[in-house]
Amino acid sequence: VVQLRLTRAVADVTAYSRRNGQSTIQRYCDHDNAWQTTSYLDEKLRGILLNDKIKDLPVAVVSVAGAYRGGKSFLLNFFLRYLSASQIDRENGSWLGDDTTELVGFSWRGGSVRNTTGIVMWPEAFIIRIPTGEKVAVLLMDTQGTFDSTSTLFTDYGKLMKDQTGKAFQVLEFLVRDWMSPWEYNYGHDGGDLYLANKLKVDVTQPKELQELRIHINSSFDKVTCFLMPHPGLGVANPAFKGRPRELTPEFAKELKELATSIFSPDNLSMKLLGGQPVKSRELFNYFKTYMTIFNS
Ligand code: GDP
Ligand code: MG
Repeated sequence: VVQLRLTRAVADVTAYSRRNGQSTIQRYCDHDNAWQTTSYLDEKLRGILLNDKIKDLPVAVVSVAGAYRGGKSFLLNFFLRYLSASQIDRENGSWLGDDTTELVGFSWRGGSVRNTTGIVMWPEAFIIRIPTGEKVAVLLMDTQGTFDSTSTLFTDYGKLMKDQTGKAFQVLEFLVRDWMSPWEYNYGHDGGDLYLANKLKVDVTQPKELQELRIHINSSFDKVTCFLMPHPGLGVANPAFKGRPRELTPEFAKELKELATSIFSPDNLSMKLLGGQPVKSRELFNYFKTYMTIFNS
């Protein structure tokens, strides 16, 4: 089932370039048959992960999964913006751009009619220096149409990795959008973690399946957390909505910054670990290739 998804995934990459310190983002997708070949895929993946700048660096992979039209690509584009901004701009809030900046990057909403299923990797890694002085390459991944298989995929993968030292995955973050009861549970991690503790409680009165799922989640991830996000603003429903900062409510913008900081700040960045050891970019390339071979066979 996953075959095409992984295949398309990496092939469906996006071109990204910077001009005069300003980011210009251009999208290109090869939808001709050529890009579906393994060698094309290999070349693209190689271009990202075996790039001299990052091939020997540990990686942090941030991917967003969820229901179609859940705002995954939208959110990732704000992450892109955050990661492209200077440290000063991140701190003073101007990372969001000026009021007229449209949100671009991963294709979001009905921007295009097609509904590709796959994993889309952003072709540029962002390098972040963590407090130990070490550099980490941050990779962003969007997923489309993979939600249905996500649970079984990560369940199986989790099982596969069970005998290794350390858990299969590092952080699972539940992002609840359009949170309407900040008085009950506050926005952000404060309220989110309380809310989650309540939701993930294993309780003997629950159906066994649900109990198992809860135990499974906790045993697959080092950390499970939750973030309650306010509604972006009534503008989102408007077909002319372009994700410009002025179209967002101040609460949304505030929590967005909070979320991005909690994921990408050097103190919080979570490296990909396998068997308890950091995975280097070139090793990740090999893992991808191995999994592609397995899924394609
Ligand atoms: P994806 O299919 O999950 O990648 O969803 P998109 O990122 O393409 O967004 C789908 C639609 O959801 C767009 O029209 C966005 O404006 C809207 N959207 C994004 N984030 C939110 C959110 O937090 N709340 C609401 N209500 N709408 C959102
Ligand atoms: Mg999307």
